[in-house]
Amino acid sequence: MPIAPNVWMPELPKYEPGRPLEEVARELGLDDIGDIVKLASNENSLGPSPLAIAAMQETAGRMHLYPDGGGFYLTQALAERFDVDPNQVLLGNGSNELIELLGHVYLAPEQEIVMSQRAFVIYHLVAKLFNAKTIMVPMNGFTHDLDAMRAAITPNTRLVFVANPNNPTGTRVDNVALDDFILSMPDHVITVIDEAYVELLPPEEQPDVFAHVRAGRPVILLRTFSKGYGLAGLRLGYAIGATDCIELMNRARQPFNVNYMAQAAALAALQDDAHLQATRDMVLQGLGQLTQALDRMGIAYEPSCANFLLVNVGDGRTCFQALQKRHVIVRPMDGYGLPEYIRVTVGTPSENRRFIEAMAEVLNPA
Ligand SMILES: *Cc1c(COP(=O)(O)O)cnc(C)c1O
Repeated sequence: MPIAPNVWMPELPKYEPGRPLEEVARELGLDDIGDIVKLASNENSLGPSPLAIAAMQETAGRMHLYPDGGGFYLTQALAERFDVDPNQVLLGNGSNELIELLGHVYLAPEQEIVMSQRAFVIYHLVAKLFNAKTIMVPMNGFTHDLDAMRAAITPNTRLVFVANPNNPTGTRVDNVALDDFILSMPDHVITVIDEAYVELLPPEEQPDVFAHVRAGRPVILLRTFSKGYGLAGLRLGYAIGATDCIELMNRARQPFNVNYMAQAAALAALQDDAHLQATRDMVLQGLGQLTQALDRMGIAYEPSCANFLLVNVGDGRTCFQALQKRHVIVRPMDGYGLPEYIRVTVGTPSENRRFIEAMAEVLNPA
């Protein structure tokens, strides 16, 4: 007789990540990964900041030591940069871990989260993990319908998730509308604003959620070093928010959740504004390159303010497989209820060209 798991666990869906280079190379029978272009996980094709690479090399010889479990220096640096109290900052093993920590602190059976139907699927998976209910709110086209999200809140709602810019749609909400949304939340709800892609926006266009944190509102802002900073492999995110929430999330985490090398690399990357600007430039240029090519080919896509594009190819999974045969990895979107679409990450000019050439072949097989 097998040991019975928690009754809701057998239905827990699996997250389908972008396929790793090594796995695809193995499947295609390639000896090395050099020829494969991965545009599947919204990574930064410029790579990590050179300052971060130097910091990692410098710490490599000290990896026999446990890291600073509290991440003192990085926490201080982030608090200073965003003008918040260090008690309002918590580091996580990717912002994904912080989403799970929110679940540990606030979710239980009978309780609810509110999110958009086409928002980051991890929110829903974490709710499932705690057997909490997800209220999926239809979007306004491909943009969050903030009014509908507010209206969906019930007395059992604990967390409302707004990814801004949103993955996988690439849209964002108006800054003033976001402020109004946060201000209008009932007292029993924590508003979670996931800004994984916000550094890719021009600084003057970025929303100021920090102001709500400084004002003591029940807000948790999630950020990451995985996208704009090009450190996805290190796993490092941070939450900035209400002191009492941060304190409880801090108790729920593992003692050494953020590794030594990640802390060193992030501290260095934070100083490298030139790399961040180069990343913004690459994304802007790449979006132009991709959208012009798609226009020429008569393929529809959704306008994006992040480093990826949602492209309507008719049959996303077939297109994904055909591109993969041509050594280009993108992401099928059927898991998001968008079977007609693929999501392609903006890469370097030559990576984008490889994607465009492969798309042309897929559309017009010789
Ligand atoms: C990529 C992404 C993250 C980042 O996750 P990490 O765990 O920090 O790598 C968070 N939220 C959204 C919406 C994302 O697309």
